[in-house]
Amino acid sequence: MTNFDAGAAIDALTDLDHPVKRKTAEWAAENLDDPTLSERDRDCRFWAEGWTRAAERGITALMVDPGYGGGGHDVIHALLTFEGLGYGCRDAGLAFPLSTQVWTMQPLIERFGTEQQKQRYLPGMCSGELKASFCITEAESGSDTFAMETSFTVETPSGQEGVEPVYVLSGTKSYITMAPQADVFIVFATSNPELGQWGVTVFLVDAETPGVSVGPNRPKMGLRTTPFADVSFDRCRLGPGDVLGSIGSGASIFSSAMEAERAFVLAGQIGAMERQLDDAVTFSRTRSQFGQPIGDFQAVSHRLADMKLRHDNARLQLYRAAILDAQGRPSMEAAALAKIQASEAAVASALDAVLTHGAQGYVTEFGVEQDLRNVAGGVVYGGTSDVQRNIVARMLGRRGG
Ligand SMILES: Cc1cc2nc3c(=O)[nH]c(=O)nc-3n(C[C@H](O)[C@H](O)[C@H](O)COP(=O)(O)OP(=O)(O)OC[C@H]3O[C@@H](n4cnc5c(N)ncnc54)[C@H](O)[C@@H]3O)c2cc1C
Repeated sequence: MTNFDAGAAIDALTDLDHPVKRKTAEWAAENLDDPTLSERDRDCRFWAEGWTRAAERGITALMVDPGYGGGGHDVIHALLTFEGLGYGCRDAGLAFPLSTQVWTMQPLIERFGTEQQKQRYLPGMCSGELKASFCITEAESGSDTFAMETSFTVETPSGQEGVEPVYVLSGTKSYITMAPQADVFIVFATSNPELGQWGVTVFLVDAETPGVSVGPNRPKMGLRTTPFADVSFDRCRLGPGDVLGSIGSGASIFSSAMEAERAFVLAGQIGAMERQLDDAVTFSRTRSQFGQPIGDFQAVSHRLADMKLRHDNARLQLYRAAILDAQGRPSMEAAALAKIQASEAAVASALDAVLTHGAQGYVTEFGVEQDLRNVAGGVVYGGTSDVQRNIVARMLGRRGG
C-alpha cells in the first residue's frame, strides 16, 4: 500500500467546499478569466499566458517528485485542484491540456523513464516550459489501438561492437492534443503489426527531430482553444535513450496510462458541472416568467436537482477510483465507471443548463453553450463510452467486444 491518508480522502469525498478546491477555484476565477475567451474559442486560439499563469501557480507540477521540480502532491490533492480549476476557469481548452500533462504525460515519464529522461523532461514540464503530447491514435486505428501502422525498424550497425542501434520511426498520428505546441511526443509504434500489442514500443521524440512535422490545427466542436493536430514521423532516427520503458513494453505503458488516469482527466469537467449548476440556480432565481422566478416551476427545479444528482454521483465515482488507485488496489473497473459517469453526466447537465437558460443558453455571448460543446469530447477521448462499457462488461465476466 502507498502512503494513503484515509482521513484526507474522506474529507475530499465529503467536503464539496474543500479548501484546496475552493482556493484553486477562487484563484482561477481571478487569474484565468480571459475576456478574449469567446473570440479565441471562435478562432481556435490557445492562451499561452493562461498556461504560464497556471504553471506559476504550480498546476503543471502537482504530483511530480520534488526532486524533479514537482509539488509531490498525491492523487486526491491533484483531483481537488483540477476540480477547482474546472470550476473557476471557463476556458476548458486550457484546463484540459493542463490535465493531460499532469495525469498522462508526467506519470508516464516518471514511472517508465530512465533517470536521464526524467532529468531531461520533468523539470521543464513542471515549470510549464515543456509540453508533451500523447500519440497513439491514427486515422485507421482509434479504439482498436494496437492496429496501428506507425512503425519502426532497427538499424544495428553490423560488425561494430559497442555501437548503439538506431530506431527508424515512420507514420502519422491523428487527433493529437497540444501537438502544435508540443516539445516532445510520446509515440506508440510497432515493430511488426502482426505482433499486435506485443510489438509495440514507446518513443520520446523531440519536436525538432528531423522528420517530425505537425499538421495544421484541426478545428473541432469544443475545446476549441486546445491546439489539436496530426503529427507525422518520416524516417525519424532515434537512439536507445529515446525509448520509454523497454522495447516491446508499449502495451503495459498504455495500460498504465489508461487504468485510472482516463477518469482523472475528467476532474476539471466535474468542477465545471458544479459551476454550471450554481449558474443555473442563480439564473432560476433571477429570471421570471408568468410572474414568478422560473425556479418555482417544478420542471425547472427538478432539472436542477438532476444536475446536482449527476454531479455528486460522478464525483463520488471519481474519488472512489482515486482512493483505490492511491491504495494501490485495482482500479480499472472503478475508473471505467467513473469515466462513463463523469463524461455522460457532463453532457446531460450541460444540455440541461442550456435548456434552463433558454435562448441565453443557446447564444454564444453568455458562454453556456460553450460548456456543452466542450464536454462532448469527454465521451470520446481516453476511450469512448462504448469501450468503457466493454471494460465493465468484461470485468463482470460478460464479453464486451
Ligand atoms: C478532444 C479529443 C482529444 C484527443 N486527444 C488525443 C491525443 O492526445 N492523443 C491520441 O492519441 N488520441 C487522441 N484523441 C483520439 C481518441 O483517443 C480517439 O478518438 C478515440 O480513441 C476513439 O477512436 P476513433 O475516433 O477512431 O473512433 P472509433 O474507434 O472509430 O469509434 C467509432 C465508434 O465505434 C465505436 N466502437 C469502436 N470499437 C468498438 C468496440 N470494440 N465496441 C463497441 N463500440 C466500439 C466507438 O465507441 C464509437 O462510437 C482525442 C480525441 C478527442 C475527441
